[in-house]
Amino acid sequence: MLYKSRSKPEELLVLEYLDKRMALPETEKSYYLNLKKGFEGGIMFDSLTGKLETDLLVLNDLLLRHNKTTFQIDTLIISSNKIFFYEIKNYEGDHIYEADKLYKFPKTEITNPLNQLRRSETLLKQLIFSLGINLPVEGIIVFINPEFTLYQAPLNCPFLLPTQLKSYLQKLESSTTSKLTNKHQALAEKLVSLHLLNIKENKYSNLPSYEFDQVRKGISCEICKSFSVSVTGHNIKCTKCGYVELASSAILRNINEFMTLFRNEKLTTNVIYDWCQVIPSKRRIRKVLIDNFKIVGCNQWTYYL
Ligand SMILES: [Zn+2]
Repeated sequence: MLYKSRSKPEELLVLEYLDKRMALPETEKSYYLNLKKGFEGGIMFDSLTGKLETDLLVLNDLLLRHNKTTFQIDTLIISSNKIFFYEIKNYEGDHIYEADKLYKFPKTEITNPLNQLRRSETLLKQLIFSLGINLPVEGIIVFINPEFTLYQAPLNCPFLLPTQLKSYLQKLESSTTSKLTNKHQALAEKLVSLHLLNIKENKYSNLPSYEFDQVRKGISCEICKSFSVSVTGHNIKCTKCGYVELASSAILRNINEFMTLFRNEKLTTNVIYDWCQVIPSKRRIRKVLIDNFKIVGCNQWTYYL
């Protein structure tokens, strides 16, 4: 049973919005693409764990903290007698494992995910123990991409290769015989509450610096991301792919992008009018703001929360 779903991390959202509105510096661009790929890998794994039918609690994407150290769990599954957690890697292409090192073929060394898994395992075990739960914890690395091959995969490493995923999950399902109790539910609840507490403290250090004047304004098409859109009556039409969206929902979508990118800026009709570019009347923007946000102040000092 799905207990906690995966949502797109805010950092990824910021980078996604920035990427279409400015030229990201090379380092940030590759960081963004990695983050995106990782997220997509998580979604791919979710589509498999989502089919699990037995008494299992599936918690996706937990950011936890123990001993002043933050660690991330891509997926955690609570069964009646064990806690499994998964580090998901969306690597593609031929890889080779040699002397505890992982290389992308022919010889590019990439960080061995085992080190990260071990670190998370230690922290997770301690955290769970501190919560008074006495269940074994097992960490597994999932290579989710069907285009991934690993040569010389050691038998004793907790690696799940794309070809093994299906049978692994079937085995997990069939080996779960006893029911979950309130204790398991309470643990899931506790872990989710810890995740929420921590995410607010999380700071993003990998974002480029940007200001309102530096980023491209306008409404981009929801489907193809093009900024070539035109307003016709109550609709906005993409001139590139032809997608038609209600203007009010496109404005709201664009307001959300603005708020994600500029958390500390005040939301006003003028700012959003400038931000949308293509909406001919401020009245229409004001209506969307009034319908969806709380009005603070009046006249020219009005802003929205
Ligand atoms: Zn389009």
